[in-house]
Amino acid sequence: MSRASGKHRGAASVEFFDVDDQSYLDWVQSHPEGYIANVDRMVKVPDYPMIHRATHGLLSSAKIGNFTAGDYVKYCSTDLDALRAWVEFVCGRVATRCGQCM
Ligand SMILES: [Zn+2]
Repeated sequence: MSRASGKHRGAASVEFFDVDDQSYLDWVQSHPEGYIANVDRMVKVPDYPMIHRATHGLLSSAKIGNFTAGDYVKYCSTDLDALRAWVEFVCGRVATRCGQCM
């Protein structure tokens, strides 16, 4: 039996969500295996950007809201390495892994 070889290497896309909570939440819901990079716009917060699993409830809790419209934006991908590399490229900082979900 041959294995499916449809896995794309190095070609995973990274989605960017800015002032678009609905699209962001849709992505989180449809990619439970994905990862979310929480990025502060000013790139000033210690330990940020921080990468979480999409399943970390804090990142999509209806009680919190305002995920992409305040001081933070989100980058999402199903490929952790691609997401880390992209965030480092965009922010000039190495992303921290969430201590709770990663
Ligand atoms: Zn987390």
